[in-house]
Amino acid sequence: MSNPAESSTTESSWDPKTLIVAGGRPAHGLDAPVNYPVNFTSTYHSQGIAAAGEKVYARFSNPTWDPFEEVLGTLERSELPALVFSSGMAAIAAALSLVPAGGVMVLPAHSYNGTLGLAQELETAGRFTLRPVDIANTAQVLDALDGADVLWLESPTNPMLEVADLPVLLSAAGEKDVLRVVDNTFATPLLQRPLELGADLVVHSVTKYLSGHSDIIMGALVTRDEALRARLHGYRTLHGAISSPMDVFLALRGVRTLSVRLERSQNNSQVLAERLAQHPKINVVRYPGLPQDPGHARATELMDGYGSVIAFEVGDSAAHADAVLAAFTLITGATSLGGVETLAERRARHASEPATVPENLIRLSVGIEDVEDLWADLSRALEQI
Ligand code: PLP
Repeated sequence: MSNPAESSTTESSWDPKTLIVAGGRPAHGLDAPVNYPVNFTSTYHSQGIAAAGEKVYARFSNPTWDPFEEVLGTLERSELPALVFSSGMAAIAAALSLVPAGGVMVLPAHSYNGTLGLAQELETAGRFTLRPVDIANTAQVLDALDGADVLWLESPTNPMLEVADLPVLLSAAGEKDVLRVVDNTFATPLLQRPLELGADLVVHSVTKYLSGHSDIIMGALVTRDEALRARLHGYRTLHGAISSPMDVFLALRGVRTLSVRLERSQNNSQVLAERLAQHPKINVVRYPGLPQDPGHARATELMDGYGSVIAFEVGDSAAHADAVLAAFTLITGATSLGGVETLAERRARHASEPATVPENLIRLSVGIEDVEDLWADLSRALEQI
């Protein structure tokens, strides 16, 4: 079997909907398989001083990573392959290693709570200082950039769904030589491509939409900068933050259907968000696709879709939200998002969630089921309070 990096079919001119299906496949030819095999090996035949590009050991490289890394890199509009990691958090840890000792990092006050938790742990250990900001407030973020080393963005944010003005923030940070990192997990490269807007590094939890079936944990980083990629590759190798080849195979299989999954889950989200916004037991619905949402105008201008996560506040207490969650029969009460099945969770149940996330807020990761079945489950569960 030829090396994916040398013989793969990926064309950067393809539309993303084609790229996810046709990219990262063996070259066409009689008897050629349509998928690369999974390489289960811990090491490779090698002797003497390793030549450049030699595989050597499976913590350094595995051909099973190559097609996925190539497809994700191309989707994010980089000429360099992505780097897969053992989880989104492992990718985040690698990205946080770029903050210089004693440096300053600006980050969204409502980032994913794992990002916040690790960044706060590193701040407590004296590694760097954090400047949390409301990323929807452009003036506040611009002010915070003075003297900063890294701007960390997540847009839309998890779970408050705030939308950042990425072009303005990324270009201002670039002028001040601030390293720009964007967690693109919620939007996926089909809805937003931060590298094109100036980001230095894109972070993904592949666990979510990219793999799409709630069956693996995996992360990835993408950059256009060769030296930065080499440094992050070195970090991955030395920290052993690598993905199992079977997981990467599943991620590539999952990404093949990303556009059809997203199309359905976004359509479902729009219908459910509109109905929830009319419901007497719901106080606030956050979804950038709703005209009344604070992020609507920005998301309409900057994104190619509004995503498939809705956050809504039920009744007036955590007990109300918990009662609704307990009454679901189709929707699964579970953490995580981005899978084909609809998941719901009261985010404030996690002690690590920022205190500004309302106690009665349910995050709904909308899947690809029939929308009327989802609405029937939601509206029936809401009768319980
Ligand atoms: N980034 C975002 C926006 C997330 O929602 C998550 C997980 O929920 C992560 C990163 C972490 O990814 P993982 O769970 O794959 O480590």
